[in-house]
Amino acid sequence: MKIGIVGGGQLGRMLALAGIPLGFEFLFLDPSAEAPAGAIAPLRVGAFTDQRELRRLARRCEVLSFDWENVSVAALRAATRGTGTRIAPALRALHTGQDRLAEKRLFERLKIPTTRYASVASRAALWRAAARIGMPGVLKTRRLGYDGKGQRVIRDHAALDAAWRSLGGVPLLYEEYVRFDSEVSGLGVRARDGRLALYPLVRNWHDEGILRLSMAPWQAPALERQAHRHLRTVLREFNYTGLLAIEFFVRGGQLIANEMAPRVHNSGHWSIEGATTSQFENHLRAIAGLPLGSVAPTGHSAMINLIGQIPARAALLELPGLHLHDYGKSPRPGRKLGHCTLIAPSAVERNRRTRALLRVLGLRLAGVP
Ligand code: AMP
Repeated sequence: MKIGIVGGGQLGRMLALAGIPLGFEFLFLDPSAEAPAGAIAPLRVGAFTDQRELRRLARRCEVLSFDWENVSVAALRAATRGTGTRIAPALRALHTGQDRLAEKRLFERLKIPTTRYASVASRAALWRAAARIGMPGVLKTRRLGYDGKGQRVIRDHAALDAAWRSLGGVPLLYEEYVRFDSEVSGLGVRARDGRLALYPLVRNWHDEGILRLSMAPWQAPALERQAHRHLRTVLREFNYTGLLAIEFFVRGGQLIANEMAPRVHNSGHWSIEGATTSQFENHLRAIAGLPLGSVAPTGHSAMINLIGQIPARAALLELPGLHLHDYGKSPRPGRKLGHCTLIAPSAVERNRRTRALLRVLGLRLAGVP
């Protein structure tokens, strides 16, 4: 079966790495000839709205998926019309995942607790939102925000003005600043026949809006039950096929949904070595109409993103149980270039090794056990 993936970043690359052993073939579309997936499978270079290239993908592949959510829903719909090519996950889920306001409305409708928010379309609306929701708050672009881009924390009126000057002009969302106890994410996959598999809860640490560290399984049964309930609700709502991630804040033992991603997710990279079936393989199994694999953990995992530069390999590979993933991208400050995953036989041992790895990387993160 040939699978077309719109977007050839590291997520696409890891999808191909997971799918090739299963006998899948891939065809990628990405605006950059240097996109990481191109080292693994054929890559067409073109814009995500390029109808000719999208039609080519639709004609050549049985199913289309995407490795990031900011691809054009309208262009995908037009390109597959009349071809019989399926798109998974459904475009309705993609559409929601592209727009923070649509996500908030979805969470509210499905009774999933989320942050208090206001949609902001003008300077006056921003001042009204700050008055109603209070400060501190966070102003975010509704679309195209990722890794902390397109958002500003607002602590006073001067910051409100500055944030409007830098972000204003596109649709925005103002939300309460959550003084969270921790951040977690839930990852779930739904097969075409409706069967579900839900990964163990993941605890996440961000720095300047970028994910730095994930640990799984994160043993917090009451939180995991909430995350799994919310995942089930959203997966069923969209009649979803594939992998879905939801990021949550944890405050006072309650999950507060931050955002959803209708695709494989950075906080699931640990599952390549740390789960019986990785998020990438399960996403492919789901969209290809195959049975899902077990999501049982193989040990206690920690995944650390390598951002801006890849440290000396020897220093990393010396650490026992460490797996290195280099995406083959050229270094740039703030850019995710790779990740490494540690697997240990116990949570205590994983935590010890994680602290050692953080020291090698010269990284300090608050609250790491
Ligand atoms: P996002 O792009 O919404 O996933 O935000 C990236 C990171 O910024 C989150 O994982 C949090 O660490 C932080 N953040 C985003 N929104 C808020 C908020 N409303 N309150 C506190 N921290 C936030």
